[in-house]
Amino acid sequence: MLIVMRHSATPEEIAGVVATIEAMGYEARPIPGKQRVAVGLIGNDGKVDEARLVNLPGVLQIIHVSQPYKQVSREWREDPTVIGLANGTVIGGREIVLMAGPCSVESEEQILAIAGTLKTMGATVLRGGAYTPRTSPYAFPGLGVEGLELLARAREVTGMAIVTEALDPDGAFLVAEYADIVQVGARNMHNYSLLRAAGRAGRPVLLKRGMAATITELLLAAEYILNEGEHRVILCERGVRSFDDHARNLLDITAVATVHELSHLPIIVDPSHGTGYRRKVIPMARAAIAAGADGILVEVHPHPERALSDGAQSLYPEEFERLVTELRSIARAIGRDLVAPLP
Ligand code: PEP
Ligand code: MN
Repeated sequence: MLIVMRHSATPEEIAGVVATIEAMGYEARPIPGKQRVAVGLIGNDGKVDEARLVNLPGVLQIIHVSQPYKQVSREWREDPTVIGLANGTVIGGREIVLMAGPCSVESEEQILAIAGTLKTMGATVLRGGAYTPRTSPYAFPGLGVEGLELLARAREVTGMAIVTEALDPDGAFLVAEYADIVQVGARNMHNYSLLRAAGRAGRPVLLKRGMAATITELLLAAEYILNEGEHRVILCERGVRSFDDHARNLLDITAVATVHELSHLPIIVDPSHGTGYRRKVIPMARAAIAAGADGILVEVHPHPERALSDGAQSLYPEEFERLVTELRSIARAIGRDLVAPLP
C-alpha cells in the first residue's frame, strides 16, 4: 500500500503518517519524489485498516499495490482449482460442465421427468431450488426439506449431482446433507454468516455474484469460504443490475476473463437469471463458453409456461438439447470439450 502525500505536505505530516503506520504494527518507508512524497506500507497482511490513514493531515490518496484477497488469488495459487464430484463430474478442468434444471423443485413428477431428460442430453449436474429466494413474500418459496428429498431421489435415479441453494447458516448444513454442491445465491453473496457456514458444511460451494457486487467483492466473499477451510468454490456470473431494461440483468461476460486472470477458482455463467428471457439465454450461453467459462447453469423446465417460478427464462428441453450441440462445437473450437455424459 502506498500513501501518497499532498504536494504541500509538511515534514511533520509525513512523520505523522510514518508514526501511524508503525503504531499499526507495520514498517513505513517514505519515498521522496520530484512533486511529492509517498509513504510505502511494508508487510501488508491484508488486515490493514486504511481508514486510520486516509484522513490524516497531508494525505492525498491511498494506492493499493496488492489485492485485498489472498487465498482466492492467482498469486496465492497458480494452478486452477479443479473440483471433482462423486458422479465423476470435474469442474475447472479442460471440460465444461452443464448444470441444468428447473428454477424450483415443484413435484416428484416434475423433477424426475426433467432430470431424466437432461441426463440424456448431457447435463451431469441437476439444479433446482428447494429454498427459493423470491423477491415477493407471496411467491412460491420452494418445497423445503421435501424438495431436498426429491432432489436426492432424482440423484438416485439418474446419477446426476445436485446443486441447490441454502438461504441461511442452518440451511447450509442441511443442504449439505442432501446436495453435492451448496449454492449461495446472488441475494446472499454479502451474507457473511452464511458464507462462513457454507465454508464449514463440507461440500463444494457455488457462489453467485451479487446483483450489485464488484468482482473484487465477489472474490472477497469467496475468500470467506476458503478462510473456513473449504477451497472447493465455484464462482458464478449471473448478471448485475443495470439502467437498461432490455434484460432482467446485465450479464457481465468480462467477469469470466477477469476472474480467470485474478483467481484460480473456476467460474461458470448463469444466462437464465443473467437475461430473464428465454430467447436471450441461448446466445448468452454460447458467448459464455466462447469467453472461457468453466460451465453454465441453465434453467430448463418440462413445461415452462406452467413453472411456479422463472418460467419466462426457462428453456424447453428441446432448446437445451440444441444448445448442448452448439456448445460442444464452441468448446472444441477453443480447445475444450463438454463433460462426458453420464452412462
Ligand atoms: C437461482 O439460481 O435459483 C437463483 C435464485 O439465482 P440468483 O441467486 O442468481 O438470483
Ligand atoms: Mn430462478
